[in-house]
Amino acid sequence: MSKILQISEIGSPILRQRASSIDLPAPQIDGLIADLIATADAANGVGIAAPQVASSIRLFIVASRPSPRYPHAPTMAPTAMINPEIVDRSGELVSGWEGCLSVPGVRGLVLRDRTIEVRYLTQHGDLVQQELTGFVARIFQHELDHLDGILFPDRVANPTELITEAEYLKIAFD
Ligand code: ZN
Repeated sequence: MSKILQISEIGSPILRQRASSIDLPAPQIDGLIADLIATADAANGVGIAAPQVASSIRLFIVASRPSPRYPHAPTMAPTAMINPEIVDRSGELVSGWEGCLSVPGVRGLVLRDRTIEVRYLTQHGDLVQQELTGFVARIFQHELDHLDGILFPDRVANPTELITEAEYLKIAFD
C-alpha cells in the first residue's frame, strides 16, 4: 500500500542540498515511487521530487493533470524519472506561474525554456530520451531544480510577481 508522505517546506535544509545519483537496479525505490505518486495526487501536485519527502536522491515524478491548483494542466500518466538531465534547450524562454508543494500558498512568475530535450532512466533501468514542451517541460525544469537545491522563488526575477495562490486563481480562472 502506498503512503502519503510528509512534505518538507522551504527553510528545511534538505531542500537546499544537491541530491545524489541513483545506481540501478534499486528495487528499494519502488515503494518510494508509489508513495511519491500518492503524495502528489493527494496534494493536487503535478510533480514532486524525492528531496521534498526528505530523500535526497535524483528522482522525481511528473504527473500533469488538471486540478484545483492547476486547472489548465494537460493530462499524462504519472512518470518516475531517475537521474534526469536536460541534454538540449530550445533557447526560447516563456514565463509562467509556478507553485510548489514545499512553498505552500504562493505562486511566482518564472522564465523557463519552452522546449527541452531530456534524458532519464525509468525505475526498470531503461534509458528514455524525449522532447518535452510547454507545461510538462516547465514541470521537468522545476523538479530538476529540486535535485540541485533550487526552489522556484529563487527564479522569480521580479518580486512583484510573487503572489498568493488565492490571487493566482483569480488570474487562472479569468
Ligand atoms: Zn516544487
